Amino acid sequence: MPSVTPVPLETGAAVPGAARGAVPAALPPNEPARLAALSRYGVLDTPAEQAFDDITNIAAALCNAPIALISLIDKDRQWFKSNVGMAGTAETERSVAFCAHAILQPDGILEVPDALDDPRFATNPLVLGESNIRFYAGAPLVSPDGLPLGTLCVMDRVPRHLSEREHNALASLARQVVAQLELRHLVADLSLQSTTDVLTGAWNRRAFDQRLAAEWNRHTRAQSPLGLLMIDVDHFKQFNDRHGHQAGDVALAQVVRVAQQPLRSIDFLARFGGEELVVILPDAELSGAMEAAERVRAAVENAQWPVDRLTVSVGATSERPAAGGDPHSLVARADRALYQAKASGRNRVQAFERWI
Ligand code: GH3
Ligand code: MG
Ligand code: MG
Repeated sequence: MPSVTPVPLETGAAVPGAARGAVPAALPPNEPARLAALSRYGVLDTPAEQAFDDITNIAAALCNAPIALISLIDKDRQWFKSNVGMAGTAETERSVAFCAHAILQPDGILEVPDALDDPRFATNPLVLGESNIRFYAGAPLVSPDGLPLGTLCVMDRVPRHLSEREHNALASLARQVVAQLELRHLVADLSLQSTTDVLTGAWNRRAFDQRLAAEWNRHTRAQSPLGLLMIDVDHFKQFNDRHGHQAGDVALAQVVRVAQQPLRSIDFLARFGGEELVVILPDAELSGAMEAAERVRAAVENAQWPVDRLTVSVGATSERPAAGGDPHSLVARADRALYQAKASGRNRVQAFERWI
């Protein structure tokens, strides 16, 4: 813990630097697990959301307090997911956070009737400075596995108490904040599951269809070329017949990892179905698509294959999308080129040329 120089009350207001004068809270015993849980919620530094602002508004109104915050205690800061009454303050140093003290007692509300009477807060810059905080009540936000993430708190500029009704309401609303965090997390998780292929970890067909439609529209507006690759594992039925379906599954997951390596971070690789992959190449002319195709083909050919070597054939195309056009024309063209790559010997790349 950093050392703290106590600041006399009468000089505290003039102390430069927000954290001077604060008495930092001890770290909770489960700090690493607590920070990991907070990070899993993926909520830090996200934009304001009505569901959370509704809760702080209700907390402020119910407790008749000018300030209500949803404060999350990060490693070195408290960050406000929602903020009523402290406009313009997105975060503060952890060392000045009342909430960093509140999370030390996750089972109950920390109530500070008059901060000037409390040695933990009497020299705090939020008390002595412009914010002029006197009263604080913070209900810990406790995750289902018992980890305190932060608080729902109310503050006032005059000394006071919470009534029993206000106390209970604040505790209930804190549970609602956690319920919202859980819901948000669950939805994100489900959304990822519904767009991810379980076997390979690649994006699935659903994700591909969504992304292709979005990229088609974006490229139509930008009048830029959109590239696409269809990749098919060569003689994969034979691989399965020789080594078993389970070894085939493992190899397919490796094909995905190997194919991903030479691609750009903006490229979008998905499992189209079976042992076929598809790659969306934003802003790629045919020459760029052919280069990407060749890099993928070579990467697969040169990879270390634990059971048996594998190769892929690749069909490549690029189009300048036109309004009203069908994004799946790209798929049809790349598929046609792939068919030609297979016909001309496999382990090769082929550009789409024409339909006949
Ligand atoms: P080609 O070079 O013409 O593509 O030959 P191929 O054997 O790869 O093509 P074919 O379409 O005849 O067979 C595809 C094989 O891919 C058959 C199928 O069992 C296998 N396959 C598709 N999906 C999976 C999967 O998820 N796991 C495993 N192990 N095999 C799969
Ligand atoms: Mg196939
Ligand atoms: Mg195949």
